Amino acid sequence: MSVIAVGSFLPPPPPYRRIKPRFTTMVSLRSDAVSVAETSSILRKLKEECATPLPVLRQVADAMSADMRAGLAAAHGLPMIPSFVEDLPTGNEKGLFYALDLGGTNFRVLRVQLGGKDERVVATDFDQVSIPPQLMSATCEELFDFIALGLAKLAAKDDDRLNLSPGKKGEIGFTFSFPVRQTSIDSGILVKWTKGFAVSGAAGRDVVACLNEAMERQGLDMRVSALVNDAVATLAGAEYWDNDVAVAIILGTGTNACYVEQIDAIPKLQGHVSSSGKMIISTEWGAFSKRLPLTEFDRAMDAASINPGEQIFEKTISGMYLGEIVRLVLLEMAATGELFGKSIPENLYTPFILGTPDLCAMQQDNSGDLQGVGSLLYDKARVESTFSARKTVLEVCDTIVKRGGSLAGAGIVGILQKMEEDSKGVIFGKRTVVAIDGGLYENYPQYRTYMQDSVKELIGSEKSNNLIRFILLQNRQGKTRLAKYYVPLEDSEKHKVEYEVHRLVVNRDPKYTNFVEFRTHKVIYRRYAGLFFSLCVDITDNELAYLECIHLFVEILDHFFSNVCELDLVFNFHKVYLILDEFILAGELQETSKKAIIERMGELEKLE
Ligand code: ADP
Ligand code: MG
Repeated sequence: MSVIAVGSFLPPPPPYRRIKPRFTTMVSLRSDAVSVAETSSILRKLKEECATPLPVLRQVADAMSADMRAGLAAAHGLPMIPSFVEDLPTGNEKGLFYALDLGGTNFRVLRVQLGGKDERVVATDFDQVSIPPQLMSATCEELFDFIALGLAKLAAKDDDRLNLSPGKKGEIGFTFSFPVRQTSIDSGILVKWTKGFAVSGAAGRDVVACLNEAMERQGLDMRVSALVNDAVATLAGAEYWDNDVAVAIILGTGTNACYVEQIDAIPKLQGHVSSSGKMIISTEWGAFSKRLPLTEFDRAMDAASINPGEQIFEKTISGMYLGEIVRLVLLEMAATGELFGKSIPENLYTPFILGTPDLCAMQQDNSGDLQGVGSLLYDKARVESTFSARKTVLEVCDTIVKRGGSLAGAGIVGILQKMEEDSKGVIFGKRTVVAIDGGLYENYPQYRTYMQDSVKELIGSEKSNNLIRFILLQNRQGKTRLAKYYVPLEDSEKHKVEYEVHRLVVNRDPKYTNFVEFRTHKVIYRRYAGLFFSLCVDITDNELAYLECIHLFVEILDHFFSNVCELDLVFNFHKVYLILDEFILAGELQETSKKAIIERMGELEKLE
């Protein structure tokens, strides 16, 4: 993951640098009413430009899918970095394992005794230290000695529950969240440092080799089994508990997303042999930039950053930047709208004076007079505020946080869309779990809600309403006499579906309703003598309408074959499909009049 450093920002760009002279002359000419109007007009414009109505979210989701696809193929689109993680935890893992996590601010070291499916996590032990600032610009040896020492300290602690089996070497999972070019699961070249790190002599080197050398210096005999970033680590960790996890998102200081991809859908990995046929791909979606609703404030922040023009999605949705965007808006409101009185509060000129945790704290203030908002503005930026100014500040926070959360949601739907389009039905109706980690998502309730709302809105709006997924006609023994699918499924998946539906309807007590949940959908079925007619539709669809639809189909068959029986269907299957096509096409009901269908069938007969 690539995140840029707070400390490395340049001074504020020209429009926000000492602009006082211009305003002091204007101030005396202006009435309070004019200032209020200017603040409201900035707010109105901000809300318009940051709006994320459904069409905007859809475009972002679609563009995300397209950029993922492009990135898998070649040089444009998202980076889509292969992680070389091809097998995920099953829950059966046993033994002692170590984990190291070098993030942006903290270094964590952990050991865990896993006891397999039944016992799961038997015991853990954990140490966390802030990375000393001087180490961020030390030498490569010094940084890795620090890591190896932390590991050695934890390994030396006596604990009966955390013992290595005799003869086994300690295995380490190394979470290293900086841009790394990987060529195998246990090696990777550091491309560059980010997040304020400037450790000399590490860029261009294999970080696993650096760690191995440091462990040797500490006399530690351990082995790095996997080098991953935080997103990949989150996916693997979540998979340990739930086998349906297929996507992981980081929403912390920075942001990233990864997901499980089929090897044969990764053109740039052509020729790679894999036992599982799958690999986790790190999308590096922070680099995404298409169709985003951006404002002059975003452009000003980007221009002042150490990586202008890069990581635009990250700069719009992640924790490092939300507070800074709000500061720039407030500065503009203070300057042209006198939001905080006649002069501009000095501290508002300081980049990053407001952090995302500050926006979050202000948004939790439920007091009538917004005292909490007032104190925070004063403590952080020495800003004195009226009640009406505090309300405006909250609206600015909400606008920026809503845009961030909603766009993060659209990104997630973009990933799911790409996976579903490619799955050829393999994930039809299956539960897909998205694992999410990071301080922003964990701590900011409003952000979380906006993100979830956006996912729901996008998924709920998909053109899946009133669509029949498939229709099956099976006898009691489970022989399928007719199967028509209106969703693309692979043959193996069709067999599974038919087997599951048969078991579901045949074993169901006749005194129950004719509607039954099936995976994430529902099946409406009806029995006629020894034959079961089953229709699969959305959970929210009208059962009675589909029950009628089954009956209509049977009546027409009955008319056509006069007293239809199973053998008629076997010997005249082409006619049965013809009849079916007359009233259901592409999953939608076309005709509900028995008379009309029978007349049309008569005409088709004449043609033969
Ligand atoms: P990293 O990406 O460095 O691993 P973390 O996942 O630890 O980061 O998240 C830290 C980030 O989370 C901070 O930069 C901040 O933006 C955000 N954050 C932390 N606490 C809060 C909070 N209370 N409210 C909102 N955001 C928070
Ligand atoms: Mg982290």
